[in-house]
Amino acid sequence: MKSRFAPSPTGYLHIGGARTALFAWLWAKKNNSKFVLRIEDTDKDRSTQDSVDAILQGIDWLGLNYDEGPIYQSDRIERYKEVLSQLLNEGKAYYCECTKERLEEMRETQMASGDKPKYDGCCRNKKLKSGVIRFLNPDNGTVSFNDYVKGEIEIANTELDDLIIARSDGSPTYNLTVVVDDHDMEIECVIRGDDHINNTPKQINLYEALDWNIPRFAHVPMILGADGSRLSKRHGAVNLMSYRDEGFLSKALLNYIVRLGWSHGDQEIFSVDEMIKFFELENINKSPASFNQEKLDWINHSYIKTTEINELVSELEWHLNQLSIDLSDGPDIKEVIEALRDRSKSLVDMAQNCVMFYHDFEDFDSDLAIKFFHLESRPVLDDLLINLNTLEQWSAEHIHEVIQSICESRNIGFGKVGQPFRLAISGDGKAGSIDKCAQLVGEKRVLLRLKMAIDWIDSLPS
Ligand code: GLU
Repeated sequence: MKSRFAPSPTGYLHIGGARTALFAWLWAKKNNSKFVLRIEDTDKDRSTQDSVDAILQGIDWLGLNYDEGPIYQSDRIERYKEVLSQLLNEGKAYYCECTKERLEEMRETQMASGDKPKYDGCCRNKKLKSGVIRFLNPDNGTVSFNDYVKGEIEIANTELDDLIIARSDGSPTYNLTVVVDDHDMEIECVIRGDDHINNTPKQINLYEALDWNIPRFAHVPMILGADGSRLSKRHGAVNLMSYRDEGFLSKALLNYIVRLGWSHGDQEIFSVDEMIKFFELENINKSPASFNQEKLDWINHSYIKTTEINELVSELEWHLNQLSIDLSDGPDIKEVIEALRDRSKSLVDMAQNCVMFYHDFEDFDSDLAIKFFHLESRPVLDDLLINLNTLEQWSAEHIHEVIQSICESRNIGFGKVGQPFRLAISGDGKAGSIDKCAQLVGEKRVLLRLKMAIDWIDSLPS
């Protein structure tokens, strides 16, 4: 038993494609089956290596490991030609030389008389030797299948066209290659977007003509933007990898994607094991799912708060590299993450908040400096410098006690000490719990930064 993900490399992997891949992967895991990755690259004009790379990178980042592949359709042309010859020899396909003009005229006449446009079978009995190859679709009877998501579907053969299965240059088209591959690769369950549902009856006729087993189908409804229109770049239908760039954890994205059109009770957060355990194709919604950025942000934040620390370190590393943060000169990154995780909405946010622990800054945020560094806060910064300089043990608790005692001796609130102190050690005021952050920034850097803040005040024109 196998399932597959069969993207055409004509664009990046986006949320919709990733969700199809995830559903097919979950089905395979759940059924102890194999997951096949097949790159449908027979359309030479539209397929690009960049797209192939982006798809492989996206699948890899999401951790959707495949058991077979990537299999490239462009490597299987001979096999498709073999099947085309078989169909021609058995009289189940025929060459057609109808011109574009004739087809266009036929179409217009059919539409004018209110008929569904469809090839009229003009070349069926001509025994031609060149042109496009059409599949001889049965004239009567019906095609029916039971889709896991959409239920029973039945369509009359009179509604279906004699499908083009090879172009005039001999290259096979999608509807042929997909059938040959799903058969040869022993795909038991075809999970794909519902934009393909109209192709399925035609493909079933091909399976029957070839006397092959027909797989089961699950056609997954599309994803809409929050405004109800089809998901586009505007809504985040961008390269999946841009979610990594924006600081999303791959597991958070997976969790978000699995809930797009699938549910298990009210549960929102799923570990990968839980997804596998609870996933059922039958529970996929029949109606389209809506993309919701706030929910994605919420899920990401909740993963940042709870992900096991070593995993978070490795996810964060890529972002730290982007910012050229050298971890050798500063505290243990795990302690920094613990201090920052509750308030970091994304890994980008977290990486930016890490900078103060490892790099010195040249200047303070000028607006905040004007607000918090002034003659009134100068003695407070002095007190901090003197007391912290003589602190016996550099710990968050002891630093907290120092702040507390300054508040008491000067009879001022915590903010009057905390705010200038926070700006002094961070440069931009974006530090979390001040005592913990001061502990992690380290004694040497804290004292230097306090002096820098005092110098800043002293340099103000009197
Ligand atoms: N290659 C097709 C696509 O990217 C998918 C075909 C299929 O899953 O059957 O839309």
